[in-house]
Amino acid sequence: MTTTTPTLAHPAAGEGILASTLAQFHAAADTINLSDRYRAYLTSWKTVFQTQFPVQMDDGSIKIFEGYRVLHDTARGPTKGGIRYSPHVTLDDVRALAMLMTWKCAVVNIPFGGAKGGVIVDPTKLSQQELQNLTRRFTTELEPIIGPDKDIPAPDMGTNAQTMAWMMDTYSMSRGYTIPGVVTGKPVSLGGSAGRNEATGRGIYFLLQEHLQAQGGVAGKTVSVQGFGNVGSVAARLIHEAGAKVLYLSDVRSALYNPNGIDVTAAYSHVGQGGDLRKWAEASDAAQIVEAEDVLTADVDILVPAAVESVLTANNAGQVRARLIIEGANGPTTAEADQIFEDRGIVVIPDILANAGGVTVSYFEWVQARQYLQWTEARVNEELQRLLTTAYRDIATRAAKVGPGCSMREAANIIGIERVVEALELRGYYP
Ligand code: GLU
Repeated sequence: MTTTTPTLAHPAAGEGILASTLAQFHAAADTINLSDRYRAYLTSWKTVFQTQFPVQMDDGSIKIFEGYRVLHDTARGPTKGGIRYSPHVTLDDVRALAMLMTWKCAVVNIPFGGAKGGVIVDPTKLSQQELQNLTRRFTTELEPIIGPDKDIPAPDMGTNAQTMAWMMDTYSMSRGYTIPGVVTGKPVSLGGSAGRNEATGRGIYFLLQEHLQAQGGVAGKTVSVQGFGNVGSVAARLIHEAGAKVLYLSDVRSALYNPNGIDVTAAYSHVGQGGDLRKWAEASDAAQIVEAEDVLTADVDILVPAAVESVLTANNAGQVRARLIIEGANGPTTAEADQIFEDRGIVVIPDILANAGGVTVSYFEWVQARQYLQWTEARVNEELQRLLTTAYRDIATRAAKVGPGCSMREAANIIGIERVVEALELRGYYP
């Protein structure tokens, strides 16, 4: 058993995802001969908001934090997208992620444009009270921008249902009444949707079953999952429970390997009760500890990068052995790595489809909040599967129509761009 230094080092500064996102946009735009007028429009951002704000810390001191909210496009409806708390947030990343949300919402055909937000902070270093102070103050700064008909935040890396509860409460208090539709990803008891928490991971599972239908689904496949947060843990568990062998699994601290398959159900319940993945593996002899990078280059059928962006790069794409990659994270593959995968015949189910389950159920939550009613989890999952399967088939059909050399990412981008352009054309320009 080797013990190594962890883990998922975050990509170095300068390897942000804006360049890749724009390169992928232009590749799709070239294929459909998008006119310059729409190219310019769609590579601009409606609102770029940046703020520095004070937060009272537990020791009585005041600390200044920096936060962003970027709205990309509103042609198809109010903007939608998560807010992340991470020490690595940059404004350029947030701009890229906002643009990806525009295509993602259009691909699954929900009536939203794209947005993203972030605060430069390591949430694990703050107490609950400090996190609450930070969230409430940031929400106050965002007041002119957000709203149930304007821009609707949701959780992302480093934020969760509790964060959304504080945001909803802060926004509602300043209006004088409760406005549940201002954010999604809330606790179910506060108007959140059944199934929202698991939606992104469940979406990955539904899409894999659809993609592998002709081969009998995921059962019997070998899988490597990078990331054991909200997305990776649920995806890994559902894949495991459907009869696949999850050979590799990693979280932010350690990477695990078991040649017979990891008992993900047990890992999930251990971590769900506040336990540590590595300690669980060591104590139960459930897996050996391996290098973080092994998870990406594992000899498996399916790779699920579900941690952070820019982990599959020109440096390691040549060593990837999986024949199918499904992107749980946003932007885990750089444009160069994407090209290498294409050349090597590795299929990539792209982020704007693969992880769209989250925003899809956010849409269901928003609809429920506005009607003050609650769907059952069975209904949520059924509708989620329907929207994702439709999106998958639209993309597969489109890729086949464009012809050889059109990846699923390119087809997804084409569909996203075309749907936004259609809305722009119908609305026209004002004044
Ligand atoms: N943060 C998630 C994403 O990147 C969900 C966004 C939402 O639900 O609005 O898609």
